[in-house]
Amino acid sequence: MPQDTRRNITNIIVTGKSGAGKQPRIDVLKEEYTLEQLSTGDIFRRYLRIFNEYGYKKSLTDFWDTEKNTFISDEKIARKLSNNDKDIILGLKAKYFVDKGLFVPDSITNALFEAAFSEKKYQKQILDGYPRTLDQAIYLLDLIKKQCSSIDFIVLVDNSDDRIISRTVQRRICPNCGKVYHLTYKPPKDGKCEICQVDVIQRSDDTEEKIKSRLNEYQEKAVPAINYLKEQGIPVITVPGHLESFTMENVRKSVMDEIEKLYVTT
Ligand SMILES: [Zn+2]
Repeated sequence: MPQDTRRNITNIIVTGKSGAGKQPRIDVLKEEYTLEQLSTGDIFRRYLRIFNEYGYKKSLTDFWDTEKNTFISDEKIARKLSNNDKDIILGLKAKYFVDKGLFVPDSITNALFEAAFSEKKYQKQILDGYPRTLDQAIYLLDLIKKQCSSIDFIVLVDNSDDRIISRTVQRRICPNCGKVYHLTYKPPKDGKCEICQVDVIQRSDDTEEKIKSRLNEYQEKAVPAINYLKEQGIPVITVPGHLESFTMENVRKSVMDEIEKLYVTT
């Protein structure tokens, strides 16, 4: 296969356990293939912001039809909001669950993802954090087919549970600038951020209990999603999330060597 064809990527999915080390691999892929990162976390934050900026202050409970166990129709939502902007309506649906601390149903995550993906014309994206359930994976493949787009391959960043747990519980961040420290590998001097001189903190998500629950959720929900995509013919490339010597050059090589094999064997 000629070099140009190989570099002409439509979309890639990057998956792996939370804390496996996805971001440095995503950074490599962005650069190698001139792709953008489409992250579910960013999509949610964006639609929540759109809704918050609209400034609707009343309770959102009225938008939920308890009998039918779903939202009232978009037309009714628009009338209540006195606005029919579809992004604001999507933002409202996301906020409804986030405010209640409820698990966001796949139908909402799918709708938010589709809206953001369509803005990108369904191409040149690295999907990060999506699909994370079997239903999302089925939805994604249908969408890809309908839009005549494609997923070239999935990059699975592999790492052991033990390593992820020990790495994450020792993580500390600066509450001011967000700089990340590690008690063993990159200790904050006197417990303070070297830039801001404020005390670094442990994120509430970084306790052992929360990490283990994220690892379980990955196993139960994300693994079946990836298996489904693989069965449907999308190649899965496994790359190591842990390197003996962590340099960007080594990260790049560990990712690109595995991708290379894909094109040699096909
Ligand atoms: Zn700082």
